[in-house]
Amino acid sequence: MKASRREVDGFAGGGGSTTVPANAVSYRIPRNDVAVPVILLGAPGAGKGTQAKRIAARYAIPQISTGDILRENVVRNTELGQKAKAVMERGELVSDDLVLPMVADRLCQPDCAQGFILDGFPRTVRQAEWLDEFLRSHDFGGQKVPPVVVSINVGYNQLLQRLTGRRSCPIDQKIYNIYLQPPKSDCVCDLCGTQLVQRKDDREEVISERLQSYQRQTLPLVDYYRRQGRLREINGEFPADQVTAETFAAIQESAAGGA
Ligand code: AMP
Repeated sequence: MKASRREVDGFAGGGGSTTVPANAVSYRIPRNDVAVPVILLGAPGAGKGTQAKRIAARYAIPQISTGDILRENVVRNTELGQKAKAVMERGELVSDDLVLPMVADRLCQPDCAQGFILDGFPRTVRQAEWLDEFLRSHDFGGQKVPPVVVSINVGYNQLLQRLTGRRSCPIDQKIYNIYLQPPKSDCVCDLCGTQLVQRKDDREEVISERLQSYQRQTLPLVDYYRRQGRLREINGEFPADQVTAETFAAIQESAAGGA
């Protein structure tokens, strides 16, 4: 394996908790009508996608995954997809010139009025500053609410196993892990029998770059949001259902104005 523990250091271990910093701001939003932007932070492989889908189902708000939108554009061979493809395959970040208008366009869709979950955005402090300004200047559901920021923390070795083992069904998008959650028979989907595929950027040679880019560019966001008193940290090495329960609790606490 090329990406060894020594090459990329400084990852938060699985530790972490839902404790709220003393200077946390409180958010006042309706308890049963969670019109709140949720930002999920975490390294590639931390489980943001899984948790985002569950939050989306629970609160009936859309999951906005910038990685998914970019991949769709690559598949459809749009101008954006053509520009982003090579950068994505190298595991680097797509430029803000392309990503920011794409996110702005998505956030202006009517289904975002009652809140949304950002998964994979922001990825840099510059993107976070842009988002703060965007949220300040737009109403969502007639109100301006600061986002709840949930950081899902997973240690480096666990991330490597999750990323190198990740496979998905191209037909129904079900995700497996050949080490941790293997399909019933060799590399085919349990539901439809289709051969599972590996994302190009989940190959070992690209994973190292993605994790280093995360450490260099995205990890500073944790401090950025912590300083604003918005950060909730969750141990992403717990079973997925427990991570979900803690994530819901963090969102509800914020929704209820508790801090
Ligand atoms: P993900 O599925 O979130 O791991 O994203 C896959 C790839 O899409 C990343 O490695 C980047 O190349 C690109 N990407 C996703 N989100 C962003 C973003 N917020 N800014 C820049 N590039 C992004």
